[in-house]
Amino acid sequence: MFKQISRFYRKLFRSQLQPKHVAVRESSTDNLTIIPRKQHSISRQSISENALKVLYRLNKQGYEAYLVGGCVRDLLLGKRPKDFDVTTNATPEQIQKVFRNCRLVGRRFKLAHILFGKEIIEVATFRGNHENEKNPNTSKRSQNGMLLRDNVYGTIEEDAKRRDFTINSLYYSIKDFTVRDYCHGLSDLQNGIVRLIGDPETRYREDPVRMLRAIRFAAKLDLVIEKSSAEPIKHLAPLLRHIPAARLFDESLKLFQTGKGYACYQLLREYHLFGQLFPIIEKLFTPTLNKGTSSNMERIIEQVLKNTDYRIENNKGVNPAFLFSAFLWYPLNELTQNLMQESGLTYHDAFSVACSDILHEQCKTIAIPRRITSVINDIWHLQIRLSKRFGKRAFSVYEHNKFRAAYDLLELRASIEKGELLEQAKWWDEFQHSTSEVQHAMVKNLPHKPKQRKRKSVRNHRKKNGVDKA
Ligand code: ATP
Ligand code: MG
Repeated sequence: MFKQISRFYRKLFRSQLQPKHVAVRESSTDNLTIIPRKQHSISRQSISENALKVLYRLNKQGYEAYLVGGCVRDLLLGKRPKDFDVTTNATPEQIQKVFRNCRLVGRRFKLAHILFGKEIIEVATFRGNHENEKNPNTSKRSQNGMLLRDNVYGTIEEDAKRRDFTINSLYYSIKDFTVRDYCHGLSDLQNGIVRLIGDPETRYREDPVRMLRAIRFAAKLDLVIEKSSAEPIKHLAPLLRHIPAARLFDESLKLFQTGKGYACYQLLREYHLFGQLFPIIEKLFTPTLNKGTSSNMERIIEQVLKNTDYRIENNKGVNPAFLFSAFLWYPLNELTQNLMQESGLTYHDAFSVACSDILHEQCKTIAIPRRITSVINDIWHLQIRLSKRFGKRAFSVYEHNKFRAAYDLLELRASIEKGELLEQAKWWDEFQHSTSEVQHAMVKNLPHKPKQRKRKSVRNHRKKNGVDKA
């Protein structure tokens, strides 16, 4: 249904754009198409005031300045851009002289950030060709062809070709309000195509993150990855292991927490990229032979992503700790069982060791910051505490500041596993919505606490089943 609506939307957009898109050739460059103001839909009213200030100021100082990338693409699609990126022929140092509120960032790719309170306008200098560049301070490649430094400056034409996808290579000029298209991005946008600029394999090797970006734009904008851009992804996927884990953390949030997480997940799996980000999870996927029968782990991943997309659509907050805690819950249980069997650890000890082992392993590919891993740890440990409700326990769990996230994970597990977990989740739901009197009665009415003598068998039971029962 959603796909149908979005197809309809795209058709509508295309039909709006088609008659206007009478390209006017103005330049000597064969590939350049200039779309005059009257023939495109970008109005200054939909551009951030701060971005406009930056564009005008650069212009006034005699530099060229354009909006570029996702914001131009999104504005043409009638969407609200996430951020506004500017490109110019001024070098970062020259940009710094024009703006007092400027900070230079990045080593691999040097940029200027112009700070306006919470909003940051990113200003990049036109990138040029690396072919004749020998200076390692500006251009450096690894043995795999990966660009370790991309600070060779050039002209706008060169810059356009150094961008990743044709749809991201559209420029909006503040001087005459035209849109400049050097790589046929507009027709790809109209036809719903994500196409890498240049030779796909070389471009993916230069920066393997472009494979993740292709997936993200296809999912986010409901586009199709063009055949020759899609084809090398599966065999180049392992190149992602050369990308710093901190960058992959940022990318994974963009993939899973910007409203199209479920669609991204499906494409990541299709293109063999998911396992590069989550090797621990990949190991436990149902073999393709059993397609159609998905494991609890696959079902919880799908469900948490659908819920996340729904929350974003409804302007509700999302929490990466919760997302990762659900992704890794079943691998955590599997490891706990293995540790118990192999090392003879008690359930509790095995669970604690497994929590830190799993997070340690996961952080090798995606560097989840400490403040987030500590919340994941809390959410996991609270799963055990949620199952113990006797005496004062229920009340102390309820007071924990991560109770809500822990309860949400319990509910998610219950929706997957059903059985006793459903009863537990229902009990906690009622508990949260009851008066203190009723809460005390609920605890009193819990099925009888097992006698001391029986504890041994409960412990054995825990060993078999992974999680404690009340
Ligand atoms: P969004 O901001 O909606 O996620 P975007 O296309 O604006 O999408 P950014 O990461 O903000 O993505 O990058 C801005 C622009 O910089 C891109 O549109 C693209 O032109 C260029 N760009 C970004 N990353 C790369 C890359 N890895 N290789 C080449 N060009 C890139
Ligand atoms: Mg952007």
